[in-house]
Amino acid sequence: MTQANLTRDTFDQVMMPNYAPAAMVPVRGEGSRVWDQQGKEYIDFAGGIAVNCLGHCHPELVKTLTEQGQKLWHVSNIWTNEPALSLATKLTDACFAERVYFCNSGAEANEAALKLARRWAVDNFGADKDQIISFKQGFHGRTFFTVTVGGQPAYSDGFGPKPGAIEHAEFNNLASLEALISDKTCAVMIEPLQGEGGVLPADEDFLKGVRALCDKHNALLVFDEVQTGFGRTGHLFAYQAYGVTPDILTSAKSLGGGFPIGAMLTTTAVGKSLGFGTHGSTYGGNPLACSIAEKVLDIVNTEEVLGGVAHKEALFRAELERINEKYGIFEQVRGKGLLLGCVLTPEYHGKARDFIAAAVEQGLMILVAGPNVLRFAPSLVVSEDDIKQGLARFEQAIAQVVSA
Ligand SMILES: *Cc1c(COP(=O)(O)O)cnc(C)c1O
Repeated sequence: MTQANLTRDTFDQVMMPNYAPAAMVPVRGEGSRVWDQQGKEYIDFAGGIAVNCLGHCHPELVKTLTEQGQKLWHVSNIWTNEPALSLATKLTDACFAERVYFCNSGAEANEAALKLARRWAVDNFGADKDQIISFKQGFHGRTFFTVTVGGQPAYSDGFGPKPGAIEHAEFNNLASLEALISDKTCAVMIEPLQGEGGVLPADEDFLKGVRALCDKHNALLVFDEVQTGFGRTGHLFAYQAYGVTPDILTSAKSLGGGFPIGAMLTTTAVGKSLGFGTHGSTYGGNPLACSIAEKVLDIVNTEEVLGGVAHKEALFRAELERINEKYGIFEQVRGKGLLLGCVLTPEYHGKARDFIAAAVEQGLMILVAGPNVLRFAPSLVVSEDDIKQGLARFEQAIAQVVSA
């Protein structure tokens, strides 16, 4: 089954050097388990970076993929298609939005949101209203527009002149936003819970304040729910627990459960500005991706799965606290639902990657969120057994790093 001539070394020979993947090469997955070329088994708490919300090769998704794969894959947006219409109908039924734009990734969903915000401002207020405000440590994707809106200059520096009129405020600091925002602001883009930036939830008062400032200055509030959406926090979208409704919401990652798809959701009034010919994507909304995302939505948007997330979060937190009582290496365990971050104590700052490497040795896949935070983003339907066994492996990995 595995191809002996293809190894991690092949990566260095034929792939661009923009990634540095681990030594092991996964070849098969089932539920929350993954196997590498040597047949070694891993418990997957990385979930493909908060993507595999129903684990690997969920039977219902495999069935949908196979059925739609024999029916119609792609027609382009010269024609619409039933899976796209059906998914859009269900998405608009499930949240504040009335209109949907489909694309293929989180960055594309955010790119569309930013372009829409600029065009909406031109349409309604004139060309001067072009300022976009986002937050330090935020992450919105890797296109040049989205990475510049993201709050980590290290990712956007070194590519020449950046898109303009973009400012960054401090996350969870309303005064810093108030100091920047004005009637020139067309949009504020924010993650309700910063994922890549360190698994940091927004305070409820802060988000409410952001909404109020946007209203005061006629600016659109854009929630980037690429990582927090689709059940990750125990709600279909994180905003639904905050009681703060955005004007635009972006989704990707878990939306496709592992199949590439992104979506930008908004109201009819705002969506009007993305008129015929203003934006587009060849693959966006293709029937194969949409049929799979529709099945993901059908399964995730149920009391069984969404309600289960809170229970699994409690299990994770209890075990992580127990482990921390023994080793004392976390300053804090934070996050929401099944997007959890263990903030390392100063002694281990900069060493998050050492824990990932030790975890792989112990048969566990986890993530980092910056140099000081270990991140968990497992399947939303991960079993209690897998959680317990996975965290037992995590404890062994910690023992290994601590004693090294
Ligand atoms: C992952 C992520 C993105 C980018 O998504 P891609 O599919 O990699 O383009 C954007 N925003 C947030 C919050 C993310 O976590």
